[in-house]
Amino acid sequence: MAVARGPGEWGQLRRWLHDNGHVAGRDDPSCDDTHRLFDGGRIRLRTADAEEEFLRRYASAWADGEWLYVIEMRTAPLFRLVMEVDAESATCLSDDEAEMVGRTCCEAAGVGPCVVLVAPPKDGSRPPLVGSGVHMHWPTTQTDVAGALRARSLCAAALDLAMPVRVVGGWDRALDPCVLTSNGIRMVGSRKAEMVGEGGGGVSGERFVDRGRPYAFLAVVGPDADSVPCITPHDIVCATSVRIPCDAAMRQQSSMRQQSSMRQEDNMQRVSNAPRLQSPTSPSPRGGGWQDVRDEAVLGAVRQLVLREPHASAMHRLSRSLDGSTYVAMTHSHLCRNKGGKHRHASVYFVITRAGSSQRCFAHDPSASPVPCSVYRGPPDPLPPQASRILW
Ligand SMILES: [Zn+2]
Repeated sequence: MAVARGPGEWGQLRRWLHDNGHVAGRDDPSCDDTHRLFDGGRIRLRTADAEEEFLRRYASAWADGEWLYVIEMRTAPLFRLVMEVDAESATCLSDDEAEMVGRTCCEAAGVGPCVVLVAPPKDGSRPPLVGSGVHMHWPTTQTDVAGALRARSLCAAALDLAMPVRVVGGWDRALDPCVLTSNGIRMVGSRKAEMVGEGGGGVSGERFVDRGRPYAFLAVVGPDADSVPCITPHDIVCATSVRIPCDAAMRQQSSMRQQSSMRQEDNMQRVSNAPRLQSPTSPSPRGGGWQDVRDEAVLGAVRQLVLREPHASAMHRLSRSLDGSTYVAMTHSHLCRNKGGKHRHASVYFVITRAGSSQRCFAHDPSASPVPCSVYRGPPDPLPPQASRILW
């Protein structure tokens, strides 16, 4: 399988998009792009089924360590609530602080659970300032642009109270409104790239420069955080997609409705009633098949007998597959066996079956040896018999 590990290479995802006619040329005049690529490529997924398939293939390419460069465009009029922190400060926001940003915004927005992603630190515009990136996604909350901008103001005010003078210029400046008004948003795991002109002496040219810095999963916070599974790459990709897919025909209909709404009373109703912030009828995002474990005996057995220190005290969530065969223990621990040390941001988790406990890792670091952490499957550590008796 083709896996792109450098800018400009063709990987499995890109090839699928191309082979299925989902890629539009740079010069194509229509503007119903669903996604964009950093090299100027434009993607059109015309049906909800194609969007589902795209998310599956994106997750699989991400898990395979493919270098991805995809920006997701919002759907209109409704999309899933999202916010982007692009902050500068003397020191980078720590993971704990990024999680606090998520919790504070979740409380301020007053809606459902929020998935928090973080990017590695970058140089600020004026050294020695450093830049911190945090994405917050509300997978169960749909909104329109006006509703999202209102939520953004509430979040900025709450952050100014909760974390005053933490970022240069205050939180209103750090919470980027562009993601809600003009730009799309870079997908989880996607790398940043820029086209850099290298013209000179009458010769113009462009160079595709990889900046890395993919956003990685940090935590799910807020009310009903347990209802959002973020265990597999596919879970995370689905939970952080801002799009509410529908078929192209419906998209066109919806845009025509908006254009003619001034003349049609019922359609006026439809537009003025466009939900501000709402939860969908089904609170659970795509995916699932897991439930959280609250049984203290099981939680204790996993902590004390399976994970052991230092991972035991860092476990914050234990889920069990509906068939009862598999447990997944989420931790805040950065200590990764694949890396042979600690990650700065990404945390590790454990898949526990009767065969043993196997460490996995959320890091998206293709340089980690011997394999990228996103595809690393730790060797199963056998379970003590007393743990198996409690777990099954
Ligand atoms: Zn790792």
